[in-house]
Amino acid sequence: MPGTLSFDDLSARVLEGSIDTVLVCLVDMQGRLMGKRFHAANFIEHSHAETHCCNYLLATDLEMATPDGYAATSWQSGYGDYVMKPDLSTIRPMPWLEGTVMVLCDVLDHHTHEAVPHDPRAVLKKQIARLEGLGFTAMMATELEFFLFERSFDDLRRDGYRDLVPISGYNEDYNILQTTKEEAVMRPLRNHLYAAGIPVENTKGEAEAGQEELNIRYAEALACADHHTIAKHAVKEIAWQQGRAATFLPKWDPARVGSSSHVHQSLWQGDAPAFYDKGADHGMSDLMTRYMAGLIAYAPDYTAFLAPYVNSYKRFLKGTFAPTKTVWSVDNRTAGFRLCGEGTKGVRVECRIGGSDMNPYLAQAAMLAAGIKGIEDGLELAAPTRGDVYDEAAATEIPRTLRAATETLRGSKMLRDAMGDDVIDHYTRAAEWEQDEFDKAVTDWEIARGFERA
Ligand code: ADP
Repeated sequence: MPGTLSFDDLSARVLEGSIDTVLVCLVDMQGRLMGKRFHAANFIEHSHAETHCCNYLLATDLEMATPDGYAATSWQSGYGDYVMKPDLSTIRPMPWLEGTVMVLCDVLDHHTHEAVPHDPRAVLKKQIARLEGLGFTAMMATELEFFLFERSFDDLRRDGYRDLVPISGYNEDYNILQTTKEEAVMRPLRNHLYAAGIPVENTKGEAEAGQEELNIRYAEALACADHHTIAKHAVKEIAWQQGRAATFLPKWDPARVGSSSHVHQSLWQGDAPAFYDKGADHGMSDLMTRYMAGLIAYAPDYTAFLAPYVNSYKRFLKGTFAPTKTVWSVDNRTAGFRLCGEGTKGVRVECRIGGSDMNPYLAQAAMLAAGIKGIEDGLELAAPTRGDVYDEAAATEIPRTLRAATETLRGSKMLRDAMGDDVIDHYTRAAEWEQDEFDKAVTDWEIARGFERA
């Protein structure tokens, strides 16, 4: 399949005139691509070495507000620069944009050129390095769920997002007829991503009107997060090109199911699946049981990384396929953790807590940290839960609000030891700010309920 481009490939394409634009991007706290569009000649001659951006890019909210309370940057420190260092192994075409390639950057301190610890790519790289220290690599796959709408982003924004009509009229789970009608968006999405070196497996209709799922083949953790980020970006751009809108908001309608991003995880030693033990129960190696025990024990600590906004928590509802309990189950979609590929070399755990709004770098890093802790401490995995896990009274609950998840994050010794106090303090502040901003809002629901009757 097509892959990334080498710097020499890119230079040749620029010389022959087929590429004229290079998007030089970092990944922000929300998991979005932020950066600059370079003339390709400038990138080849100079900017491939490094470029700069305002350091507020890793300290804003979704609306680019500049909250106080971050140690890393502030108005007081004058919002200086970061170095954006292109990772030249990530150059890839963006075939849905004419003459354009992109490259992802690592974010470095302007003065020391050290990695900025709360850069999402740096956060994940740190846990990958810890895992490598134990002799393993992590293979991950993140599913992308989202909704498509009839009208465009611009139309919907002008109308205050009031007339949200999904692109299809009925539940389209696995439905071929309905998804045929959506091929104007979904076919270019699959084909352009594939041509960009992203190993698309398939797309399918999901369990609501207008809901889609995109599956990408599992890859090493950093590549998986890169793929997810670029694919999410492509969904929005290609929908926009077709005069449609796509949302990754986990819950946009209280009466419909939400969108998630399940994360499949396995550890490997070279080509050998380290989670597999032919003779063991379910084919799960001791290593896998320890890793899973860590994932389960520390789920409340890292839920804020899987569900980073107030809206993320509206998804966790009984009977919706979104989990509410930190237990595991064998091929059962009501538990927070599902064993997949039982008894095969593909044996893996799927974490079902993440919302479609998660930042995949932070989410994967936090889960690796939990799994590593499970391995290091030799944690024991409890027996699997059976049946409808929603009714499992004894099981630990996933934090049900951002406020609660912020406090478990703040107090997590495991994550502080694994990621550093600076990183945890930074993202705790981000979560606090989200909650504070929401607390200031007066919602439609409050008006409708109380305007006359209160
Ligand atoms: P389901 O539809 O039941 O969730 P799939 O068979 O479609 O499961 O697989 C879901 C995801 O799991 C795919 O993206 C696939 O690439 C990924 N996957 C398969 N094997 C592994 C593995 N060993 N480790 C991590 N992810 C894997």
